[in-house]
Amino acid sequence: MTKKRIYILATGGTIAGRAASETATTGYQAGAIGIEELLQAVPELKEFAEVQGEQLAALDSKDMTADVWLHLANRCEELLANDEIDGIVITHGTDTMEETGYFLHLAVHSDKPIVLTGAMRPATAVSADGPMNLLQAVRVAVSDESRGKGVLIVMNGTIESAREAVKTHTTSLDTFQSPDMGALGTVQDGEPIFYRQPLRRHTKASAFSVQGIASLPRVAILYAHADDDGFLVDAAVQGGVKGIVYAGMGNGSIPVRVEKELAEAVRKGVIVVRSTRSAAGRVTKAETSYEEHGFIGSDTLNPQKARILLQLALLQTTDKEEIRKFYSIY
Ligand code: ASP
Repeated sequence: MTKKRIYILATGGTIAGRAASETATTGYQAGAIGIEELLQAVPELKEFAEVQGEQLAALDSKDMTADVWLHLANRCEELLANDEIDGIVITHGTDTMEETGYFLHLAVHSDKPIVLTGAMRPATAVSADGPMNLLQAVRVAVSDESRGKGVLIVMNGTIESAREAVKTHTTSLDTFQSPDMGALGTVQDGEPIFYRQPLRRHTKASAFSVQGIASLPRVAILYAHADDDGFLVDAAVQGGVKGIVYAGMGNGSIPVRVEKELAEAVRKGVIVVRSTRSAAGRVTKAETSYEEHGFIGSDTLNPQKARILLQLALLQTTDKEEIRKFYSIY
């Protein structure tokens, strides 16, 4: 049987990390190892796919930028339009993997698999997890079942939707979880096994596009805490934000003093989305005053993902009701 052709885009991260010793699992340089060396570490890849790679960036993903996202989205569109490419695997740092994944889930239009993977231990560590994760990501990318499921995150033997996956632990190999919906599947002895598929709109069905876009609208995330008086809301508005995601308490609750400031921001034309600092759950309408001010609930999107949806929405419209609808569709 002819092997599928998988294109690997390397962006850096711990999977390409180099530490001073084999026992060091923190305090290393992320993104230090190039794509060729990464591929050489996993010769088994060739058994399952025809693999070629490209070094798109060499970042610690904490330094990910909208510029790189736009470049990545355009490169994915270009590669996936090519009949000679069957899928893409992106190696990426874990810190912002869920954000890049969700961005591509909304901005790239293709049924072909796009799989993100990375590592929690640097490539130089004893028991580095990168080689197995890369092999599993390629196995998922060549699976017919991965088509049409949107952007996937494959780490530590689980397959998750980029809409749902969240980095939940600072150092554990099992850091990615989908707290609300659970994983889509597992990789068992190299074999991808799916149990569910995402129903919220994505990739081919997404109405968002970043073609010809040079930058994304500025959207701030403000994090709720006891005794928050909302002084940062005005700072954000003065800074020229087009949107604010408020990581509220519990069900997107907002202290009264902050609510007043956010309502003022809406009056000035800023879109306000209520998300939550809680680890899981849907943000519902809650208080009637929130609706009256025009605040929008983030559904089950955490603040960093709610921010991405708002950035893409703002490229199309500033109509609050249209943007509200997006949070029930995507
Ligand atoms: N700081 C690293 C990064 O996100 C962490 C990792 O890859 O696990 O690039």
